[in-house]
Amino acid sequence: MSPRGPRRKRAEAPPAPAADVQAHSDGPAPRTKRTALATAKNGRTKDDTATGRAKRSGTSAPTPDAEGAGQAITTRASRAKRTAAPPPTASPAPGHLAAVRGPLLGWYDRNKRDLPWRRTRDPYAIWLSEVMLQQTQVSTVIPYWERFLARFPTALALASAPLDDVLAGWKGLGYYSRARNLHRAAQEVVARFGGGLPSTAEELLTLPGFGRYTAGAVASIAFGEEAPLVDGNVARVLSRIFEVEGLPGDKEREAALWALATALVKGERPGDFNQALMEHGATTCRPESPLCLLCPVRGACVAFRKGRVDELPPAKVRATPKKLTLALAVWPHAGTLLFARRADAGLFGGLWELPAAEVEEDLAEAEAIVRLAASLGSEVKLEAALGTVKRQLTHRDLTLRLLRVSGPQRPTRAPAFQELRWCTPAEAAALGMSTAMQRALDAALGSGVLNGG
Ligand code: SF4
Repeated sequence: MSPRGPRRKRAEAPPAPAADVQAHSDGPAPRTKRTALATAKNGRTKDDTATGRAKRSGTSAPTPDAEGAGQAITTRASRAKRTAAPPPTASPAPGHLAAVRGPLLGWYDRNKRDLPWRRTRDPYAIWLSEVMLQQTQVSTVIPYWERFLARFPTALALASAPLDDVLAGWKGLGYYSRARNLHRAAQEVVARFGGGLPSTAEELLTLPGFGRYTAGAVASIAFGEEAPLVDGNVARVLSRIFEVEGLPGDKEREAALWALATALVKGERPGDFNQALMEHGATTCRPESPLCLLCPVRGACVAFRKGRVDELPPAKVRATPKKLTLALAVWPHAGTLLFARRADAGLFGGLWELPAAEVEEDLAEAEAIVRLAASLGSEVKLEAALGTVKRQLTHRDLTLRLLRVSGPQRPTRAPAFQELRWCTPAEAAALGMSTAMQRALDAALGSGVLNGG
């Protein structure tokens, strides 16, 4: 029942165990640096201008912050100075919390989107939605969630299924560690809790793949526990309303955000309140061009009152994706191709692929064949270069070099892989394979490799 609308791909995640992917990405394109706000002739940004209009219409509201109103227009210098200030450590006033909680909950009741996981009370289905929504847009998740739930309707059904089937059901969603953790967690739910999810965030945190965010989401939404959560949307909303300083990832900032979320969630309907926060960030308090004039908590928003909406939170500078080049062995035999299953750890862990070996971008084909032979533990001969497939992943620029190969013996086991299989294209369609590898396979088949091409 996550309300998430636009989630940001940028890594503005709360502090949590690494297993919990929390940089949700349902929404606007990631912001690698704050988008240049068009500066008007009078020196105001668009946001400044909007804020100024709002202020002139008397929308400023009391907040516990000591700084005065009347600063809707800020200079770059003053922004920089304040952005460098430490995160707040004092607790917000109860009146400020109440000025956020009630209006936001009411707004959510009137405006929430009708999403399929909001129509169920089944903790397993809610958990599944939370996992799928991590790093993935709502519109993408809906059909996957429905299909996956039809295929694995309970934790028991999921736990009993082979991992290959689970990965195949996840095919195309990416971030396959989510599927592996889901599978492992389902097995623990069956073994330790009789097939039903435990109802507290504390217990949920003991399961694979559960971090602080997911535990809070499932405990509050499915079980009504007053468990806080902070994802990218919530972090942005709270940063603005309570003027929380610091860069995404700063420990002090994250602690301040979680403290605010913990204080705010206490009260009636904690699950709905958490969803209201996320929904608000997804649809109204957006990364760029937030709809402040339609905002239900504008009167309680310090950033709005001070004209700091465009600078909170500061954008995290995204690291340049690393280049990764893989040579792929396209090895045809009697209507089949050779496929390999990667080790569980690392990129594309546990997934199937055309057997791959990492190479330098400009490595000669003859050298690339040597690497492939080492990975396969088998003599390999280069027949032809079939071309390359390029894919942009979140953290990598991926280049796949397709090399048609042959060999005196057909390998069935290899040192670098968990498993090898010779599959027809139809059989390969049932394998859990990344989208990038699927594109490479499509290109290989398109070259006519099984028709003597
Ligand atoms: S939409 Fe605007 S006024 Fe509302 S919380 Fe976000 S920044 Fe503040």
